[in-house]
Amino acid sequence: MTSDAGGVHMTKYIFVTGGVLSSLGKGIAAASIGNLLEARGLSVTFQKLDPYVNVDPGTMSPYQHGEVYVTYDGAETDLDLGHYERYTSVRLGKNANFTTGKIYHTVITKERRGDYLGATVQVIPHITDAIKDAIHLGGKGTDGNGVDVAIIEVGGTVGDIESHPFLEAIRQFPYDVGRQNVLYVHVTLVPYIKAAGELKTKPTQHSVNKLREIGVQPDILLCRSEHPLTDGMKRKIALFCNMEPQAVITARDVDVIYDVPLKLHADGLDDFIVGRLGLGGHAPELGPWEAVVDAIKHPRDTVTIALVGKYVELKEAYKSLCEALTHGGIPTRTGVQLKWVDAEALAGHGDGLAGVHGVLVPGGFGERGIGGKLEAVRYAREQRIPFFGICLGMQCAVIETARNLAGLPRAHSSEFDPDGPDPVIDLLPGQAQIDQKGATMRLGGYDCALLPGSLAEKTYGQAMVTERHRHRYEFNNAYRDRLRQAGLVISGTSPDGSLVEIVERPDHPWFLATQFHPEYQSTPRRPHPIFAGFVEAALAHKKGNP
Ligand code: GLN
Repeated sequence: MTSDAGGVHMTKYIFVTGGVLSSLGKGIAAASIGNLLEARGLSVTFQKLDPYVNVDPGTMSPYQHGEVYVTYDGAETDLDLGHYERYTSVRLGKNANFTTGKIYHTVITKERRGDYLGATVQVIPHITDAIKDAIHLGGKGTDGNGVDVAIIEVGGTVGDIESHPFLEAIRQFPYDVGRQNVLYVHVTLVPYIKAAGELKTKPTQHSVNKLREIGVQPDILLCRSEHPLTDGMKRKIALFCNMEPQAVITARDVDVIYDVPLKLHADGLDDFIVGRLGLGGHAPELGPWEAVVDAIKHPRDTVTIALVGKYVELKEAYKSLCEALTHGGIPTRTGVQLKWVDAEALAGHGDGLAGVHGVLVPGGFGERGIGGKLEAVRYAREQRIPFFGICLGMQCAVIETARNLAGLPRAHSSEFDPDGPDPVIDLLPGQAQIDQKGATMRLGGYDCALLPGSLAEKTYGQAMVTERHRHRYEFNNAYRDRLRQAGLVISGTSPDGSLVEIVERPDHPWFLATQFHPEYQSTPRRPHPIFAGFVEAALAHKKGNP
């Protein structure tokens, strides 16, 4: 680790901001910086600062902000944390995501307690101090022992009213830790104007000006662009934005998102960062990451997986899931093509799934589309197509067996039919009394014991696993025997046996469903075994049914 002259460990801070417009891939840029620094033997951590007022994204529809990413310690966080964990070996916890709501909640709670008695509580300094405290906390890393580099991404776009206090806090931050320990990276757009046949630098100049109005001079610009920036353009941007030409980096559009670190490296990003911050480490070892990118770019075969969900118009809603499917194809060099199937459109005719090599019913909330999801389970079961259910998808698998094989035609989840005769999926013990919606589900990592000899145990190759959860409802134990008699095997439970975590069907080539979300723990370098097993089964199905 980096130390100052007195041998005291000094964490360096890299702040990542965005300008011109949203969706420029700031999260992937931040993740890529972490990836490159880890490849040089440096330890990193991440934090996302989100300007919205919700305390966390757990209460938002995925249509608003994409998937809710669940950390091992049960925080419901922004989906960028998923990118950070997939691009590095870092495991993040609840201190890795702060929103305006969470910051204000802290300050207002203190005010009510009387901590500021006598003072007028204001955005500056009280809110900005709370933001800086949060950054210091996140910068200690998940284990609290400190890291070489903390990478902090500020959500939103420079110029937004909401993000102002966060930008003010990062402007002040060098006064806490020293300017030499801080680096500002600004992600902008350099659009290509077809009519002129030119890349245009003006939006970048304006965006940097906006940042400088606040008092932040960027050290590095990552310029998203369809084409590489010429040296002349880099010099022009550097001149107008008051920086060195080698600090202007092209962030070219790529086909495979895992290629971003390699492209940024080729344009000199990590060399510049390490030089500017005086970081140690060794020459970057990019071999394992290059192997991942190569496997994704050059598959030997492909399979088509139907994703039967409710939010199919918004791919961001299933971010970790799509990535985990890609990872699942890496060990067998199988490309995974997704067929997005709107569950509502499927109700009554599972034939919409004809020709796919695997069916996946993901997690979700609310009744819309349930009929189509049940239909998808039935179709995959009867047609012997590999089936993978996750969370609500597992609950649908249980309901489908109950209705069609266990003689319980009105079986349902009490989430959708609170007074039904056969609630095969019911509220978790302890959930019935809860009246607050925020952060009250069963959240985060819990152990799961696997049944010896089951598909689950063979797939994992171990007897006990830990997986992340996000649900309120659960397999109803009163129906265990009836569902077992209908061919469903309970192959994973909580260690005390009380909660059902995995079900499968031994009479089917590959039928497995989990109450937890395995997608959160999959990374390209460590593809999740269930996703790898599912893709392998889909490939076998394709080969058996060409
Ligand atoms: N709605 C279901 C529950 O709360 C499933 C949740 C999910 O799929 N994440 O139990």
